[in-house]
This record gives sequence, structure tokens and C-alpha cells, in this order.
Amino acid sequence: MIKVNTPNCNFKIPIILIVDDIRSNQEILVSLLGQDYQVKVAGNGYRALDIAQRSPRPDLILLDINMPDMNGYDVFKELKDNRLTSDIPVIFVTAATDSESEVHALQMGAVDYITKPISPAITLLRVKNQLLIRHSLDKLNLASIVFENAMESIMVTDAQVNILDTNPAFTRMTGYSHEEVSGENPRFLKSGYHDQSFYEAMWQSIISTGHWSGEIWNRNKAGELYPELRSISAITDTQGVVTHYVGISSDISMLKQHEEQLEYLAHYDALTSIPNRVLLADRMKQAIAQAKRERTMLGVCYLDIDGFKPVNDNFGHQVGDYVLIEIAQRIGKILREGDTVARLGGDEFVVLLPDLNHLEECIVTLKRIHEAVAMPIFIDEQLVSLTTSIGVSIFPSDNKDSDELLRHADQAMYVAKQSGKNRFHFFDPMYDQQHQAYHEAMLRIQQGLVNDEFELYYQPIVDLSTRQVVGAEALIRWNHPERGLLLPGVFLNDIRNSELEIRVGEWVIDSALSRLMQWSKKGFSVSVSVNIAACHLQSDNFLNFLEQAFMRYPDLPAGRLHIEILETAALEDVATVAATIKACRVLGVFFSLDDFGTGYSSLTYLHHLPVDTIKIDQTFVRDMLVDKGDNAIVKGVIALSKAFEISMVAEGIESMEHFHALYALGCEYGQGYAIARPMPAALFYDKYSQDHEIN
Ligand code: C2E
Ligand code: MG
Ligand code: MG
Repeated sequence: MIKVNTPNCNFKIPIILIVDDIRSNQEILVSLLGQDYQVKVAGNGYRALDIAQRSPRPDLILLDINMPDMNGYDVFKELKDNRLTSDIPVIFVTAATDSESEVHALQMGAVDYITKPISPAITLLRVKNQLLIRHSLDKLNLASIVFENAMESIMVTDAQVNILDTNPAFTRMTGYSHEEVSGENPRFLKSGYHDQSFYEAMWQSIISTGHWSGEIWNRNKAGELYPELRSISAITDTQGVVTHYVGISSDISMLKQHEEQLEYLAHYDALTSIPNRVLLADRMKQAIAQAKRERTMLGVCYLDIDGFKPVNDNFGHQVGDYVLIEIAQRIGKILREGDTVARLGGDEFVVLLPDLNHLEECIVTLKRIHEAVAMPIFIDEQLVSLTTSIGVSIFPSDNKDSDELLRHADQAMYVAKQSGKNRFHFFDPMYDQQHQAYHEAMLRIQQGLVNDEFELYYQPIVDLSTRQVVGAEALIRWNHPERGLLLPGVFLNDIRNSELEIRVGEWVIDSALSRLMQWSKKGFSVSVSVNIAACHLQSDNFLNFLEQAFMRYPDLPAGRLHIEILETAALEDVATVAATIKACRVLGVFFSLDDFGTGYSSLTYLHHLPVDTIKIDQTFVRDMLVDKGDNAIVKGVIALSKAFEISMVAEGIESMEHFHALYALGCEYGQGYAIARPMPAALFYDKYSQDHEIN
């Protein structure tokens, strides 16, 4: 509230106090002024002072000088000394016509001086003038009170935009005093937040409409940015020429803060501080648009914590809340930058995975979410481990809007719950089937290892000149209880580049060594080649495993195990592989490059890897008798092996014509159906342990 002595605003009829001790004088003035004004009369100074103080106070006093007891000067002095009456204008009305008296009266502060006998017309005009002046002064006074006390910062500039006046609120807001800014252009408040076009538009509006208002970020004297709501008006004279600009601003920092708070509350979950359903919907729309634009996939994962209710029931809601916060944070940590984790309420979360190129990327994240949730939480001095069921819908294979994608993910989550919790389930029927099949196949192979359903078949490798069996290639077979004998092409693809492929490879090595040991003990000396996947050879533990495996068969003569390196194209770091090979050779292991000629960089590998043998791929051998190109390749590879002084095995010898042709070309070793098909170990032993020569 602004507390001031509010001046008379003159909406009412002005009050005039006539002070004169002579009744006839009083009557003359009353009859003169009584028509237009409200007139009060005092017959002496004391009475005059009393009336003047009372509300409503007079707007003008006509004061006689020559009065008994207290003369006009004394009354005047008293009036001026009293705060309540000091601002009431006084006109002396007197018989003293000498100019000294007049000068004296005016010097004291009287606003006018009228001599008796009064002229009615002049008196009326002078009274009217004084009341007009009084009225203007009151208005000015009011304006200045408003200016000084306004909460809004006010700045007045001249037409050249140099500051003329500022009010205390301006100083409070900007930190600059009036003296500091007077004469300056207000651009010193500029924050750098707005570009030139912002200010150009502002001035454009002021010039064309005389007005601008809007939000503007300024910088105060302390260098801090603050937002203000500002309106600027151009003030013009009667000719319409701009004389001033007035800027009125209020600091809206608090308003902005409130706005931000409201914004936050509207979009973030109060408990976990992660996005809520509203923001999730927004992000989903963006993510769908992005997926369409960039032709990528979007994963919508609906999570429900398994067994969360018991946590709440047993430990109380406070602990339940703590667990939810912890889980939200853990999930947040493992996600990529563009991913979103949101809480829908209760123990239900949604994770958005945009920008996916393969389904496997989504699966990797799902597994990490499972791991993150499963990490034990310390509650009430107990370690509690939770699991989560996740349902996933994938855009665009599920080409729906965000609501439906979420619904589908939710449905899939229920399926995950029903099939035993702690798992994920894909809504999309096609992906779901694919993944399900993949997952089951892996599990079945794992089970097969445990159940000892795998077996190595052996196919003889012969010296083409002597027809002697010098070795065998061990080829994996799966004695599937329901599906019968399965070839590697049927099942090995399912475990490509997985941990399980390494387990299978280790089983192959161990069972080949065990067979070699058994044969060796029986005096059957033959070498065995095992097929090893590139990823297995490159795994950290390969050399260590091989050393351990040899330690289990200390009596096995060196040089019996050969390793065929498969998918040479998948060798990432040739130098490291070469080092591994060298280290294995120290253990007495030989190496072959399998399927030679099919990879792009066969020659590079031949050049850099210290191998003993190359196996020319059966596709070249098969058609070498009819296809000139294949024939040339076979010849070339044979020449190459001779140049590199490494031995050479031809695979896929299906007829004796192939056999002879290869021999004629100088190929040393061969294997193929024409010699013998892969066979169980016992059969191989029976056939070749006594007589190494094929028939
Ligand atoms: P590979 O290493 O090139 O093995 C030769 C394949 O050719 C074997 O097929 C063998 O049965 C077949 N084969 C032999 N002679 C002939 C012939 O005259 N004509 C024709 N058409 N084929 C012949 P298999 O046993 O089905 O193995 C296929 C592939 O599976 C192997 O090709 C190898 O890459 C992989 N593999 C086999 N056993 C293992 C294993 O224990 N571990 C790994 N990682 N891969 C294996
Ligand atoms: Mg092989
Ligand atoms: Mg091969």
C-alpha cells in the first residue's frame, strides 16, 4: 500500500475559506464565490486555523490581514507551520494597497494579493486561476508519488533514447542508481541473450504502433541475467512528434521459476525424478518420427518389477519408494544418451530405445536392464534381489501409434509374467517367434552338451601319392534324440559368435584329444584336425584352455592335433591371431587355413599367419574338371602352397577322376566322399588302425 497525503483531486466542488473580521466583507465574498464554490467563513484567526485543519480541508484560503487578536500574517505563519495545512494556497485580501505590503505577503508565500475594495471580476478570475494551478500541482504530485512508489521499474528517455528519469524500482531491479544511468542509452542493460533482429522488431513496433511489450532478458549491474516483462510507449506532442519514450518493466524471475517448477511437475515423476507418462508420450512421438525419418527401429519396453508388492508389504512404503528410486537410477545409468526411462506409476516403468539397427541391440539392453535390476539392494540389513518382467513392442514392425505400441508392450509384459517372470517377451509375433526359436535353440544345444548328445565323426585325410591315411578331420554331429543325426550346418549357425560357440569348441578340442589319447595308447598314430571358429581362436582364454587340455593328456605325443581356422574373414586382428598361433605351435599344434580361397583376404592371411597347411575349398574342387576357372584356381592354390612351402589338402574329392586330377596337378593330400565319408570314431579305428592304406 502506498501511504501518502493524497492531495485533493478536485472531482468535487472546491472549498474556499474566507477569513475576515468584518461581516460586510464576508458577505461580499460569499455572494461572489458562493455560486461556483463551497464557501466557509471564519471571523477571526483562531477560527480560521480550526476550520483549515478539519477535513475536508479548504482548497484555497482568502485571508484578511488586518484583524484583531491575530492578524493575517500570524494566521498565515501558523497555517504554514502546520503539516495539515501547509500546502493550502492562501490569497491575502487587504485594504493595504502599498506595494511593500504586497511584496511582503508574496515573499511570505502567499499565492496572490487582492486589494479592497475588491473588484468582483478580478477576484473571481484570480480565485479561479489559483484553483487551476492547485489542481495541476495536485496531479503532478500524484504522478510523482506513483513514479516514486511504483513496484514496476520506470524509465523515461528523450526522443533520442537518452535516459532522463528512472524510479527507485529501476534501481532495485538493475542495481544502477539514477545518477549512473542519467543521459545514457538503455542498451547498457543488454544481455546478449537476444539477437539483433529481436531489437529491430521491437523498434519496428514502437515506430509503427507507438508501443511494444514483451519479455526481455537483461543483465543487471552485478552481471546477472534476469527476465523482465517490459512495455515501451512513445510519447508524442500535439503534432504527433515523439518527445519521450517510457519503459515500464517488472522482474519476472519468480514467475519464470514458477513456470519451470510447474513444467517440471507436469513432466517428471515426483518420486523418482524421471519422466512421467506425459513426457513419455511426447518422447514416444518424437522417437517414432525419428525412426521413420532415419529408417531405424524403436523399442518400447514395458517393465514391471516382479514381487514388488511383498517389498512394500514387508518393509513399508518408505522402503518401497527407496527401491523404486534405486531401480530408476540403475536403469538410467545403463541406457544410451538418447534412450528414455519413464515411470508410469507404481512399479511400472517404460524404457524407450530409439535408433536401433538390429533387434539384437535391443536384446543386449534388455539383458543389461535385467542385470541392473537384479543387483542386490540393501534393505533393512538384508540383501534383497529383485527381477523384472519386460514386454517389448518394436516400431515399425509393429507400425502403430504411441498408445498402441505401449499397449502392445504392456500385453507382452503380461505374457512375460505368465511364462515365469524375470524375462522379456516381444509383442511382434514375427520377432517374437524368431527370438523365441533362437533362444530355445541355444538352450537345446546347451542341454545337448550336458546330455552328451554330441559326437565327433572322422573323415580320413590321405596322401594322394601313397594313398596312406595320414590324419582325420573331426566333424561334429548331434545325435538329437528326436530329430536324429544332425549335421553342423543345421545347428552351429544358432550359436555363431556366442559364448556357447566357445563352449562347443572346447568340447570338440577335449573330445578330439581324448580320442587321440585313446588311439595312441592302442598304437594307432594318426593326426586329427578340429575346426575352430574365428571368434573362439580370438577369445582371451583360448591359449590357456589349450594348455590345460594338453595337461589332461600328458602322454599324448606332440604334433597330433591340427586346428583348422574357420571363417578366416572374421579374423579381426591378424597380428594377435599370428601370436596365438605361434604360442600354440609351441605346444605342438599344427594349423590349417580352412575353406581356402573363399574369403577376400586369403592371401593376406597366408602371408601373415604361420600356418602349416591350406585346405582348398571343396567348391573349387567340385567343378575343377568341368570349369576352367575353378581348375585354374586349384592349380594356382597348389602353386601357391609350393611357393610358401606349406602343405595342401584338397577337400570334396567326390570321384576318382578328381583324385587323379589333383594328384596329377601335384596336390599332396585330399579328403572326400570318394575316399570315405565322415564316420564314427570306432568305425574309423576299425578301418584304418591296422592298414592305413585306403582301398
Ligand atoms: P569343413 O571344415 O570344410 O568340413 C568339410 C565338410 O565337407 C564336412 O561337412 C564334410 O562332411 C564335407 N565333405 C567331406 N567330403 C566331402 C565331399 O566329397 N563332398 C561334399 N559335398 N562334402 C564333403 P560337415 O561335417 O557337414 O561340416 C560342415 C562344416 O561345419 C565344416 O566345414 C566346418 O566348417 C563346420 N564344422 C564341422 N565340425 C565342426 C566343429 O567341430 N566345430 C566347428 N566350429 N565347426 C565345425
Ligand atoms: Mg574343416
Ligand atoms: Mg573345408
